[in-house]
Amino acid sequence: MPFDIKTRVKELEDELIALRRDFHMHPELGMEEHRTAGIVEDYLKGLGLEVSRMCGTGVIGLLKGGQPGKTLMLRADMDALPIQEATGLEFASKTPGVMHACGHDGHTSMMMIAAKILSENRESLKGDVKFVFQPNEENGCALDMVEAGVMQNPSVDAVMGTHLMTGMRIGTISADDGPVMAEANVFRLTLKGLGGHTAVPEDAVDPILGAAGVIQQLQAIQTRELSPHKAVALVFGSIHAGTAANIIPDKVELQGTLRCLFNSKKEPGEYLLDRFERIVSGICAAHRMEYQLEWTFHDPAVINDAEISAIVRSAATDVIAGTDNKIVPYVTMIGEDFCRFSQEVPGTFYFVGVANPEKKTDFPHHHPSFDIDEDGLAIGVELHVTSALHYLNGQLQNRPAE
Ligand SMILES: [Zn+2]
Ligand SMILES: [Zn+2]
Repeated sequence: MPFDIKTRVKELEDELIALRRDFHMHPELGMEEHRTAGIVEDYLKGLGLEVSRMCGTGVIGLLKGGQPGKTLMLRADMDALPIQEATGLEFASKTPGVMHACGHDGHTSMMMIAAKILSENRESLKGDVKFVFQPNEENGCALDMVEAGVMQNPSVDAVMGTHLMTGMRIGTISADDGPVMAEANVFRLTLKGLGGHTAVPEDAVDPILGAAGVIQQLQAIQTRELSPHKAVALVFGSIHAGTAANIIPDKVELQGTLRCLFNSKKEPGEYLLDRFERIVSGICAAHRMEYQLEWTFHDPAVINDAEISAIVRSAATDVIAGTDNKIVPYVTMIGEDFCRFSQEVPGTFYFVGVANPEKKTDFPHHHPSFDIDEDGLAIGVELHVTSALHYLNGQLQNRPAE
C-alpha cells in the first residue's frame, strides 16, 4: 500500500457487473435469500475470510488485517421485492412476481468485490473489516441481527453502508452528517359514525364528512405544529368507506404513513404521535364520531455521525479526483433499517447516484421498471474500499502527489 484502487476496481468491473446481473436474474424475497447467501458465503470463503451465518440467510465475513486496529463493519442488503419486473432487460428477473427493484443486487455485488480488493491487501490493513450481508432489509431484519449479536465478536467500532439511488444522477455521491433517511410510522385509523339514509342525515353521524376534516386538519402538523426545519411527510395511502350512493356508512377506514427526519420518540416535546392523536380526537368530538387508532412503528431515522461522514467524504474526494463526478447533499424520506446498526456505534449511510435518463435508469425505487446505471457499481466499490482504508489506516489513497 498505497495500491492503486481505481485500477484494481477497473480490472474487476466485468466480474462486478456479472455478479449484479446474476443476482438480478435470480431475485429472492426477504428471509428467502438462500441462493444469494450461498453464493456470497462461498465467495467470501474463497477469499480466505472467516465466514458465519446469522438470522438464517445473513452472511458475515471477517477480514483480519495484518496489523492491529479497529473493527469496521460494512453492510450490504440482499433482498428483492414482490414486484413483477417490467424492464425488458436481457438479465431481467427469471422469478415471476419477484424483482430487485431497490438496487440490493448492486449492493451485494459491490461489497463482494470490495471484500476481494481489501482481502488482497490484508497485510497492510490496520484492523479488521466485518462484511455483513443482511437479509430482508425491506422488512427491518437489521434489528434482529443486532439482537443476534452482529455488533459483537469482534465488537464493531464503526459502521458504514451505502444505497444506490435513482434519485441522484450517475456520478454523484452523498455522505451528509445528521439525518439522511426518515423514521417511518404506519397508522391505521377507523372513524366510527352512525349509518343511515342520505335523505335523513340528521339521524346519522356521517363519518365521510368527518374523515374529510381529519385528513385536512392533520396536515397542520407539518405547517403549524413543528418548526419548518423539522421535515415531516404525512400521507394517506388508503381510504375505504360505504357501499352505495344513498347510504351513509357507519365507518371510514384510513391508512397512511407519518415520516419524519428525526427520532420522534426521543423528543417528548416534539412527540409527533401525540399531536396526531390530539387532532384526530378533536375533530372526532366535533363530528360526534368515535375513533380507533393503531400504529405500527418501523425503523427510526438514519442519523449519520459527523466524524465517520467526514471520513467517507474525504474518501469520496479521492474517488472523484480526476473525474467530473461530484459530492452533493442528499436526504430522502424513505426509511432504512441501517439505523439499527448506526444507533449502536458511530456510522454513516452514504448514497451513490445511478440515475441516467439516457439509459432509462431514472425510475423510482420499487417501480417495475426500476434499473440502475451500472457505472455506479464501480464508484460504490471504490468508495467502500477507500472509506475503509481511510477509517482503519488513516491514509489518504489515490491522492495525486503534491
Ligand atoms: Zn427498498
Ligand atoms: Zn433499498
